[in-house]
Amino acid sequence: MVQHRKSAEERQGMTELECLRHSCAHVLATGLLRIWPEAQFAAGPPVENGFFYDLELDHRIIPDDLKKIEVEMKNVIKENQPFERTSVSRKEAIQMATEGRLGALGARPKPSKFKLDILQDIPDNEEITLYRNGDFTDLCAGPHVMRTGNIGAFQLTSIASAYYKGNANNPQLQRIYGTAFKTKAELEAYFAGLEEAKRRDHRRLGRMLGLFHIDEEVGPGLILWKPKGAIIRRELQTFISEELHKQGYSEVFTPNIGKLDLFRTSGHYPYYSESQFPPLIEPDALRKLANEGCTCSELANYLKSGDINGYLLKPMNCPMHIKIFASSPHSYRDLPIRLAEFGTVYRWEQSGELGGMTRVRGFTQDDAHIFCTDEQLLTEIQGCLKLVLKVFGTFGMDSYRVRLGLRDLDSSKFVGTPEQWDQAEAVLRTSVQQIGVPFSEEPGEAAFYGPKIDFVVKDGISREWQLGTVQIDYNLPQRFNLSYIGSDNAPKHPVMIHRAPFGSMERFCGMLIEHFAGSFPTWLAPEQIRVLPISDKYSEYGRKILEQLTNAGLRAFLDQSADKIGAKIRLAQLEKAPYMLVLGAREEQAGEVAVRSRKNGDEGTMSAFLFVERIQTEIKQRQRD
Ligand SMILES: [Zn+2]
Ligand SMILES: [Zn+2]
Repeated sequence: MVQHRKSAEERQGMTELECLRHSCAHVLATGLLRIWPEAQFAAGPPVENGFFYDLELDHRIIPDDLKKIEVEMKNVIKENQPFERTSVSRKEAIQMATEGRLGALGARPKPSKFKLDILQDIPDNEEITLYRNGDFTDLCAGPHVMRTGNIGAFQLTSIASAYYKGNANNPQLQRIYGTAFKTKAELEAYFAGLEEAKRRDHRRLGRMLGLFHIDEEVGPGLILWKPKGAIIRRELQTFISEELHKQGYSEVFTPNIGKLDLFRTSGHYPYYSESQFPPLIEPDALRKLANEGCTCSELANYLKSGDINGYLLKPMNCPMHIKIFASSPHSYRDLPIRLAEFGTVYRWEQSGELGGMTRVRGFTQDDAHIFCTDEQLLTEIQGCLKLVLKVFGTFGMDSYRVRLGLRDLDSSKFVGTPEQWDQAEAVLRTSVQQIGVPFSEEPGEAAFYGPKIDFVVKDGISREWQLGTVQIDYNLPQRFNLSYIGSDNAPKHPVMIHRAPFGSMERFCGMLIEHFAGSFPTWLAPEQIRVLPISDKYSEYGRKILEQLTNAGLRAFLDQSADKIGAKIRLAQLEKAPYMLVLGAREEQAGEVAVRSRKNGDEGTMSAFLFVERIQTEIKQRQRD
């Protein structure tokens, strides 16, 4: 991506931490120049989680060099140099850069070429400022901390390469990344957080726990749910279905492909064809084109213009649900109609953006469409929010917020009347206020067809995940000419609500793996109980217990390996089974089981019957650990 120079105003908007980190970039340059005085520095802005500085240097920086630079940086911080700002004329600045003195510890034989170039980007009416700490002078708009000693703790983290100004036609520079905090404790907490995130990474855990697989031969971004992952997905779907049923939804099934004309009517094709798999061309259409001597480039144009017959892997479920609604006449008395489907859709994501379950090319939305009257909007939106809160509560996601996407009042590019929009926006605002969720209003973030709500959830280690949305839609009912007969006997367009609160099963499951760090609550755990006879002698008793558990509908597994009991327990723990039943002579004689839980360790012995009863209650109530 090409980088644009930040305006002076944008720079002054730096947070305190960004200012500290940017100041640390100056310290990095100071320290590095003490080792390689000839280095040519380009830009050194703060970025998310730290800062970088780009530089040109014949010596190729290696990880060991970072340690050496850090030693020099620590000296610069210890020297507690003040950052001094001076304002100079353009002429003076050019003079200094020509003498190699910008981004440098003093005059050098070669000019500071990048600084000279950056000077040309500064508009005539903008003040040109230099910042000096110790011997180091840099062209910079600031701001900085008062002194180098204000940088409490820092670490250089990595080396990369980057084109000057992000443009591939420019020279390639070396980039050093680092991070800095006010205190050492904050720096340590940051790295501990990174470690924890790595430990929880759903790609790593998914492989280790045998939940899902991505196979190059199947295709990138296409998830294979392995048996254990499939159990989690089925349990999630059952849970959501139960809640939908309570709220009066009807479940439907629709095909994975539909005619291009359907998606032309909905507007999904060809307007969004960049983010879709290419259409499947009908054999007749293809033959006709071949007979006409159509070339590949002509075919590509037909696909692009959409001027072709065929089918599309569905990028959205809405048009299918609309056709179900339209398949029978409706009176206002029938509304609202709520159609739900775990509907699989396909989108063409760039391969560079694919990773694990969170960016995929095929995914199953927990989708539903509500067709209702304007008067019913409030109740329906409240219902959608209630469902979301129920689910968040069940998974112990206690921290979440809502973003309210409103229309851009300056724009005329929206469907529906201003009165409808006013009502819809008021409905969304009232609904989130009533449930007391923290929310932010974001004008200009609405879709052109209606305002929306986005959910942002914090997981087990306070990282934010954007999940699904609830959107009001005035557009599709018009495009498909949907209608119901109102109480005045006149036909009216219903309002449509799209809602997929969790986005997709893939993304939600990926998030849950990280949220629970793989230790799923018993109701979701692919393996709920592991039966561990302490030796071969008790495997017969083990089989009896296993049968009892399986007959009670529990997911249990018997470890018949020759390993010592300690090793068996460790393995079960590693594989995150919520319960272990250890069986030896005493247990067999008493007809009991010795219970170990993942959470509490040894829980003593009890009858198998009592254990089954207890765990069934835990599952039924979908208790958390
Ligand atoms: Zn600066
Ligand atoms: Zn939809």
